[in-house]
Amino acid sequence: MSDKKVRVRFAPSPTGGLHLGGVRTVLYNYLFAKHNNGVFILRIEDTDQSRFVPGAEAYIFDCLKWAGLEPDESVIHGGNYGPYRQSERKAQYRQYAEKLIADGYAYYAFDSPEELEKMRIDCKTDQNPSPQYDRFTRSKMRNSLTLSFEEVSKLLSTDTPHVIRIKMPENEVVSFTDMIRGEVSFDTSLVDDKVLMKADGMPTYHLAVVVDDYLMQITHAFRGEEWLPSSPVHILLWKYLFGLNAMPQWAHLPLILGPNGKLSKRDGAKYGFPVFAMNWTDPKTGELTEGFKEKGFLKEAFINLLAVLGWNDGTEQEIFAKEQLIEKFSIERIHSGGARFDYEKAKWFNHEWIKKLPATDYMPEVKQLFEQKGIVITDENKLSKVLELVKERCHLLPDFVQQASFFFSRPDSFDTDAIKPKWNEAKRLFFAEIVRNFELTGLWNAPELEHNFKEIAAANQIKPGEVLLPLRIMLVGGKFGPHVFDIAQILGKEETIARIKLVLSLL
Ligand code: GLU
Repeated sequence: MSDKKVRVRFAPSPTGGLHLGGVRTVLYNYLFAKHNNGVFILRIEDTDQSRFVPGAEAYIFDCLKWAGLEPDESVIHGGNYGPYRQSERKAQYRQYAEKLIADGYAYYAFDSPEELEKMRIDCKTDQNPSPQYDRFTRSKMRNSLTLSFEEVSKLLSTDTPHVIRIKMPENEVVSFTDMIRGEVSFDTSLVDDKVLMKADGMPTYHLAVVVDDYLMQITHAFRGEEWLPSSPVHILLWKYLFGLNAMPQWAHLPLILGPNGKLSKRDGAKYGFPVFAMNWTDPKTGELTEGFKEKGFLKEAFINLLAVLGWNDGTEQEIFAKEQLIEKFSIERIHSGGARFDYEKAKWFNHEWIKKLPATDYMPEVKQLFEQKGIVITDENKLSKVLELVKERCHLLPDFVQQASFFFSRPDSFDTDAIKPKWNEAKRLFFAEIVRNFELTGLWNAPELEHNFKEIAAANQIKPGEVLLPLRIMLVGGKFGPHVFDIAQILGKEETIARIKLVLSLL
């Protein structure tokens, strides 16, 4: 790598929810920047006014903040290479487009939508079923290549709507070395004359990405592989405007695959898993698409599972903290094939992180989940003990509510049907004695309670196994939960005894 300061960018268009693939692009940018003591930039690519969606930009920042992948330079974070929103950079693109025209690499095109449509119909043949604006058709259209200088000047001076198109060279091979795919080559004859400046005075992505990557001194550009077919246009623009030596190194990231090919928003809805980082509500339709955050994923798990979706460190290790990822990340170990997203595996990562982190790390989120179910928790000390106790059983944060509500509010129902078939007078007497013993015991802790319980069982010639399930149902309401004497310890003397008495009255 050259000794130039590493500068990378994530360049989303604010058009909707932030998809898994987008967050993975952010992550790889971030890891690469941090690994190389570089700078991670977030550039908002909002030149397509027709696709602008209110709220989408703020949402992207929220997602990055949640995931702990904050940029160093952006609209919010500032920096010396702004503005970081393309719509605010509008004034500077035109001069580059004009330069391309002056040098013979681009041209004005005045064709109306109707004329373009007519070309698509007239030029359609069996060999060319969907004709494009390219080296075959450009000579039949109204542009500065076919019109006289005077005509063009007149059209421009009368503000006739027009676009600027690149003039793709014929039979040239454009190649570059992609950091993931190696050498990639394209025949320029197969690429159409893409629009560079639109009639509304905005650049298209093709021009803006090159100009901005140059002005922001981007050294490495990571983007989705869907952009690979456009790369010859970008390479040529680099060559024509700034020279290939100034060009960043490209890395086209492979797709993330769902159960049926490319992972889509619809897959999420269909199979019940999130596809966006955070909940996204389409402002037009009101449609809500669930996010990983709201589904109950920890950010540590989220970035871990995304990191290994298409990358590994060369060993079998799967669990990585962010600091480790920064240390170990290398582009050479990104796979060039698509990576399949497996929701069960994603939950496994979350489970591992739930177990690994101290419960106090995610206690605020869990507390909120309890509140949403009407359980207000004031004793945080108790909550943290409970969370530690049940975390082994939780894959997603809402599982805590299911696993631990009974610690904070008495169950609405008790599964007495599970006790009744084997219930008898001996067991009733046993529990009556337990109540008396528990009332008198001075030491309220799990080992002490277990010891007393087993002793009384032995004295009554009852196998502890026969009375443990009833005790669990009395305290929990059902057949689940951690070690039953740990539960009793946390519930406390009064509540434990009250629940035993209550269920005894139901039997
Ligand atoms: N605005 C493009 C997108 O939304 C960015 C592609 C790039 O990173 O160059 O996908």
